[in-house]
Amino acid sequence: TRTYLDRIKQHQNLNSFISITEAQALSTAQQADIALSKGNAPLLTGVPIAHKDIFCTQGIKTSCGSKMLDNFIAPYNATVVEKLNAAGTVTLGKLNMDEFAMGSSNETSFYGAVHNPWATNTVPGGSSGGSAAAIAARLIPGATGTDTGGSIRQPAALCGITGLKPTYGRVSRYGMIAYASSLDQGGPMTQTAEDAALMLQAMAGFDPKDSTSVELEVPDYSAGLNNSLAGLKIGLPKEFFDAALNSDMGTVIETAINEYKKMGAEVIEVSMPNLKLAIPAYYVIAPAECSANLSRMDGVRFGYRCANPVDLSDLYIRSRGEGFGTEVKRRILVGTYALSEGYYDAYYIKAQKIRRLISDDFNKALEQVDVIMGPVSPTPAFGIGEKTSDPIEMYLADIYTIAINLAGLPAMSIPAGFIENKPVGLQIIGNYFAEAKLLNVAHQYQ
Ligand code: GLN
Repeated sequence: TRTYLDRIKQHQNLNSFISITEAQALSTAQQADIALSKGNAPLLTGVPIAHKDIFCTQGIKTSCGSKMLDNFIAPYNATVVEKLNAAGTVTLGKLNMDEFAMGSSNETSFYGAVHNPWATNTVPGGSSGGSAAAIAARLIPGATGTDTGGSIRQPAALCGITGLKPTYGRVSRYGMIAYASSLDQGGPMTQTAEDAALMLQAMAGFDPKDSTSVELEVPDYSAGLNNSLAGLKIGLPKEFFDAALNSDMGTVIETAINEYKKMGAEVIEVSMPNLKLAIPAYYVIAPAECSANLSRMDGVRFGYRCANPVDLSDLYIRSRGEGFGTEVKRRILVGTYALSEGYYDAYYIKAQKIRRLISDDFNKALEQVDVIMGPVSPTPAFGIGEKTSDPIEMYLADIYTIAINLAGLPAMSIPAGFIENKPVGLQIIGNYFAEAKLLNVAHQYQ
């Protein structure tokens, strides 16, 4: 714990942490020492981690990357935090992120951009950019992240680490500040698939406090890591390898897939004609849900309140106007519009229908193959400031990840290679609750 705390302090220029909980960490680590000396300590006893600042941590500031919650001390722990505490982990602090998890570069954070340790003038990806950068710089061996449209996988890819977005419902969302509730899913971010298996083991499981949590036994995620991949059927969606994909990126992905062929896997081309509709559908559904979820941030019970409000509407208008950043406001406006009378059928219902078509495409493909592979991001890490003036350009950074959230499937990003010294990720997508299979496939490559 001390070594990692020292490294965190030495590398504050990366801006990956919003809060460092040194005193608490040292005392938990001491308790861990005692537990270990007595034997019989839980699996992750003494392992230092940090949480994305979207997870409520009792008594510790939980900002969600926003001025709106800059003064918010969570009164309770998220289930994921409780579970990791119970597994023995030591929390070193809270990690930077895009404001309310809206972004693909960590540049929408109230606390400023995070720098990618591989090239500090580039972004780490987002929204779990602090988690990915901190792991890549070896400031922590593991972290929590959340993924609504790619926020675990895309930063993992851009920082050269491993990230797993579990099946929707596998990991409890209780105490994880909601962005788009039907898409949000927490998961582990680590150096390797082996570590991801250990972390997911602690995080997964039914939680009666989350109505969409699935009541299904949690398998032993480490047990099958060394299973042979001979005969594994890998699906390659032809829509993933079209003109939008940078050609160097295509080469790295192809090389990785060839490694799988050497391990005995068989490659099959699949087609998912509705993938192209994923971004437009997501940018109706996610803003619609966020406009509802963020309505609780009104300056009344918690969070930012404007100075000297003259009446109730002044209180609401100025608290929200001053507390939210530009990207969050843009999404609240889009979402409110899409849900308003007369537009609900035209936009929201239509987007939900597209969601079903996308989900059917995946189900059809997964009847033929065990896993689907492809890129995570169309390009490696881009420059800080490069895409901030064009929101649509930024939204396209998630072109290969968003459809998976719409379908609710599990997917991983693992380091696959480099383009000009910048890491590139390989995406592995599996069937519902096939996390153990994904971890096995990932581990065999590593
Ligand atoms: N980049 C996407 C967005 O801005 C996804 C973010 C996420 O997964 N939280 O909405």
